[in-house]
Order: sequence, then structure tokens, then C-alpha cells
Amino acid sequence: MNTDIFTDYESNVRRYGLSFPTVFTKALGATVWDEAGKPFIDFLVGSGALNYGHNNPTIMAPAIEYLAGENILLSLDMYTAAKRDFIEAFVDFILKPRGLSYKIQFPGPTGTNANEAALALARKYTGRSSVMAFTNAYHGMSLGSLAVSGSASTRELGGVARHDVIRVPYDGYANQAFDSASYIDCVLGDPGSGIEKPAAIILETIQAEGGMNTASAAWLIEIQRICRKHDVVLIVDDIQAGSGRTGDFFSFEFAKIEPDIVCLSKSLSGSGNPFSIVLIRPDMDIWKPGEHSGTFRGNNLAFVTAGAMCKMWSERQFTADVERTAAKLQRHLDHLVAKFPKCIEQKRGRGLMTGLKCRSQAIVGRVHDVAFENGLLLESSGPNRDVIKVLPPITITDDELDHGIAILSQALQEQDND
Ligand code: PLP
Repeated sequence: MNTDIFTDYESNVRRYGLSFPTVFTKALGATVWDEAGKPFIDFLVGSGALNYGHNNPTIMAPAIEYLAGENILLSLDMYTAAKRDFIEAFVDFILKPRGLSYKIQFPGPTGTNANEAALALARKYTGRSSVMAFTNAYHGMSLGSLAVSGSASTRELGGVARHDVIRVPYDGYANQAFDSASYIDCVLGDPGSGIEKPAAIILETIQAEGGMNTASAAWLIEIQRICRKHDVVLIVDDIQAGSGRTGDFFSFEFAKIEPDIVCLSKSLSGSGNPFSIVLIRPDMDIWKPGEHSGTFRGNNLAFVTAGAMCKMWSERQFTADVERTAAKLQRHLDHLVAKFPKCIEQKRGRGLMTGLKCRSQAIVGRVHDVAFENGLLLESSGPNRDVIKVLPPITITDDELDHGIAILSQALQEQDND
């Protein structure tokens, strides 16, 4: 496989290309093929941006029709028919059935664009500057998002000071007995704590990049109660955990909370097309026209595919299939945990947002390499990169899932024998 052009010309910053040294050409569902025609099961899915699989026909058919029809592709934040259809689908198939009411902001297309907009709005709304963020959080690569992220190497990027962030322990961070919600409640209520009242608390319900750390419903409910008590905006960064990944459309549905602001991106377009939105509690929508802007806020092809994705959530068969696949995946992982105690410490995550915390980074590295050799794409996460992320498409077929898990099992077996 000729990869010389990448070595010669692409920046050293590339990572996935180095860990999967082949050249990919085609993709359908949970399978991608390289130039030599070798198939790989995809448990990486664009780091959570392809929850509905590659080229999902239900999502791509309207996109192909749209592209063939000389329809508008980029529209800034002008009104277009595609945008109108998306808003209708999002309200009718996602918000209303869940009893949720939000205004929708269209920021730039990436996840970090959504987080920057959410943080800016919370600061504007409250008139406060600091934000509370959690250990092991990951929110993106622009300065505001870097500042609220946990990892030292991430925060140090850019070489400029990033103030105004109060770091607090995530659910279960120090140990299961430490009640981080009570701690936050205490410091916010104590004028002697030395911690000023923040504009917002920003959190992920499952910290994917941070190691698949999973917040409990009780903790999320408590954080919402604390935010309301102290008049602090609750922002849920649902960029990786949302758009169906946990088996529900929003990752916080299981806790029955209603965040003030929700950020969505990654799988929101259903197709891998860049697209993000910020959901805003209606009374908090105090933006002035044009106050927050960006060129690529009108990706109409993404509106079309996202609308098709939203409609899928109105189909009983689809939601039943996702639920069944999530249960099957959890059973598979329980089996791996029981079979390979020398390699695996614990299963993490919820629904189809799962990970295997391994006993060392070296094990994860070797499992990754053997799996790739045998036709499975995997990614690692966590501050010590000792967690295998298992993110199959939520629409994966039983055969593809079983096949991917069999390759993973074989790779773990080889480490277990060592
Ligand atoms: N927030 C979370 C929870 C993420 O997982 C990511 C990306 O992995 C981001 C934000 C940043 O998204 P993007 O890379 O599209 O800027």
C-alpha cells in the first residue's frame, strides 16, 4: 500500500493514519475497505461521528437526490427549505416526544464550535466569567474548550494562559465513596470556600476521551439540582454521547434531567457531514442578531441527512433494534470481562457507548495492533490510554457485531496467553 505521500507531505500531527497504516476507499454500514479490498469492522466510527454507520441508505438516499437537484449547499444562517425541514424533523421527532423545549442555535460545524457558543452564552447570560469543569473532561481543541478540558497536554496546547476554570472531581473520580456533587454544593454555598460562583457547569454524561467514565443518574440529578439552587447554567456536552450513542437520542434521558444548554455535533448529521447545534433554554436565548457568527453555519446537505436521521427515531422498529443491539453488545463485553481477567479490569459505559478498562496501556496497544491486522478498527482513550473504546455503529448488524467481537476476543486471547 503506497502511503509515501502522507509521510512526505502530511504534518506530523496526524495520528489515526499512523495507527491504521493503510489507505481506505469504501465503506458501508459497519464495514470499511482498504485499497487492497481488505474489509475492516469499524468500532471507531469517526470517533463517534458515524453512529448510523457508513453510507446508511435511509440517510443517504435524500442526500443523493438533494445533490443531484441543484439545491443550495451553503447558506450562512439564511432561511432555506432544507433548514426548515430539519428544524421541523428535530422538533417533531426528537424534542416533542421527549417533552423538551429548546431554541436551536446553529454555530460553526464542529463540536468545539458548539461548546464555545454555549460557554459564551452562559457567560453573557450570567455576567460571570468562570466555568466549573470536571477532571478528565474533553471538550475540543479551541481555546475555550481546551480550557475546560482536563488532560494536562490538552490544556497546555496553544501556550497561552487559560483562566476562569474551576476544576472539580467527576462522579467517582477520587473513589466511589467521595461525593463530588456534595463537595460542589458545599463550595458554591460557602463564602469562605475561595471558589467564586461560576457562570456554568459543563459536563459529559460519559467521558469518552477521558476513559469512558460514566456518571450515574443520581449524580446527574444532583448536579442539576445544585445548578438550579445556585443559579448556575448547566451545559451538557452531548457531542460524543448524544445523537443515539447510548441507545437513547440524548445521553441524559435516562436521568430525566433537562439541561439549560445542550451541545450536539459528531453524529448529528447522521452521515459524517460536519454539523452542530446548541440547544438553548428558550428564556436564555438572549443573543442579539449576528452577535455569534461563523461562515459554515448553513451546511444544507447536513440538514437533509440530519432530518432523515431524526425521522428514524420515530420508527418503533428502529428504536427496538437499537435497544436489542445495545443489550447484545453489553452481553458480549460482560463475557470478555469474565474471560480475560488478566487483561481487562472492568467494563465501562452505557448502551452502545462502551469501553474496556485494561490493566495497562501496553495491553491496549497490542490489542489494537492485532485487531487491526485481523480486520477490526479500535481506538483507545483515558489519561493513560488504557481503555479500549468499543463504539460500533448503533445500526450494526448482528453478524458484523459478532464478527468484530470475535476479532477483539482473539486479540485479547493473545495477550492473555503471554
Ligand atoms: N466534546 C466532546 C465530548 C468530544 O468527544 C469532542 C470530540 O471528540 C468534542 C467536544 C470536540 O468535537 P470536535 O472535534 O468536532 O471539535
